[in-house]
Amino acid sequence: MMIWINRRWAVGLALFAFTLASYAQWSNPADDVPAYHPSAPLKVSALPPILAGARLTGENFRFPWQVHVYQQAIKVGNVLYQLPCNCRCDRSLGHTSLRSCFEGLHGTECSTCAKEAFFAYQQTKLGKTPAQIRAAVAVHAYESIDLEKQ
Ligand SMILES: [Zn+2]
Repeated sequence: MMIWINRRWAVGLALFAFTLASYAQWSNPADDVPAYHPSAPLKVSALPPILAGARLTGENFRFPWQVHVYQQAIKVGNVLYQLPCNCRCDRSLGHTSLRSCFEGLHGTECSTCAKEAFFAYQQTKLGKTPAQIRAAVAVHAYESIDLEKQ
């Protein structure tokens, strides 16, 4: 009797584990959103600064949009903090949100990051919340941004 119960448990556990494994596999694509923070930073001064001023010069800043995007990024830094960057720099560079792209030079060389930042600035000006902008970013609404016109 004892053995029978144990076997039942073993079968039950195996089924449970299998169910979990298949659920995880099935749900992964839907959950595959790049890193972002669900709310605004508690202390902005504790974060690496977004590049500004004299740091927006040099060979990385050849086109006007490369400067403009940093100037706008710094105005909506807390919004960028709450947005994922769809270029997957969370995997390749360890970025924790779209804000990370503008703490270094990545924002000058990645059109996805730049378009997302311009889009975030525009949408914030229109009164959209970070959650609303995040939903729009998820469906790639920022791709309509023309960098040459920024
Ligand atoms: Zn990025």
